[in-house]
Order: sequence, then structure tokens, then C-alpha cells
Amino acid sequence: MQSQITPSQTMQQQEDEHWMRHAMALATQAERAGEVPVGAVLVRAGQMVAEGWNLSLCEHDPTAHAEIRVLRQAGQRLSNYRLLDTTLYVTLEPCIMCTGALIHARIGRLVYGASDLKTGAVQSVFPLLGDARHNHQIPVTAGVLAQECSQQLSAFFARRRQEKRAARELLRQASQDETAAGSR
Ligand SMILES: [Zn+2]
Repeated sequence: MQSQITPSQTMQQQEDEHWMRHAMALATQAERAGEVPVGAVLVRAGQMVAEGWNLSLCEHDPTAHAEIRVLRQAGQRLSNYRLLDTTLYVTLEPCIMCTGALIHARIGRLVYGASDLKTGAVQSVFPLLGDARHNHQIPVTAGVLAQECSQQLSAFFARRRQEKRAARELLRQASQDETAAGSR
């Protein structure tokens, strides 16, 4: 572990990084299942309420993003569809769907790691959370362990591209072998 706590780091920063590391560990569960590695955890008063990771492909469910799975689990655990005074930590900036769900859930605070420059709906592409027309405002802390979270995602996509290339190469070789066999 490289991270030395410096005196300038506040308790809040330390807590945020602690839970973000937990969310990153959850993201590796998604990756093991062949999913895009995104992990999320919901915390209240320093205690974990729920945790989850992306499972859209495995569950054939476009709504099975890490955040939605966490909100559902938390609602069941707290027997309440409002998740007041909670903080959601997620490794990637939430999308439109998840941002909407966070507002419905009335979570107290959102902390995310990497920005999503393609579909991010907090600040990057669709800045939904800052809109004053919402009847619930969610304070946001962006960029906690951003580099590590974004590295986790880009390493996954690089590996996946490489696997696809290898599969294409195998296919190409197989068809060459077939051609060679046919010409005998
Ligand atoms: Zn989402």
C-alpha cells in the first residue's frame, strides 16, 4: 500500500478513500463475471448498508448497474424506499438512469471516482444533479481515487480488445488451414 496519510488529509477524505477502495474491490467481482468493472457501496453513519457491482450482462438486465443494485438492496434492508442520510460511493460517474434513481432514493451525498466522458450524468455529459429544479439536491464529491478507478476500467477495456483481437486471429488461422486443406 503506497498511500501515506498526510496531516493535511481530512477525516472525510480518509473515509471517502476507504470506501472507494471497497467499491473498487467490488468492481473486480464484476470483472470476474465478465462485466464492465464498476462497484458501489452505500454507507450510513460510518456503517455499510449495501454493496453491489455491475451485472447487466449476466442478469440480462439493462438496469443492473452497481448503483441500482445497491439501492434495491438498501431499500430492502432498511425497509424504506427513501435512503436518507446515506452516502453512495461508486467507482464511475453515474449514468442518467442511476442519477435519477439516486434522486428518487433521496440519498444524502454522492462520491464517485472516475469521470465518464461518454455517459456521465453528474458533471461530464449531462449535468443533471446540479439542476435547481430538483426537489432534492445531492452534494457531490467527484474524483476520489479517480486515477485508480479509471485505470481499473481502462485496463479492463484494453484486455477485452486484446482478447477480441486474439479470437479474430484464431479464426483467420482456422480459415487459412481450411483453405490449405481444400487445395490438397
Ligand atoms: Zn447507471
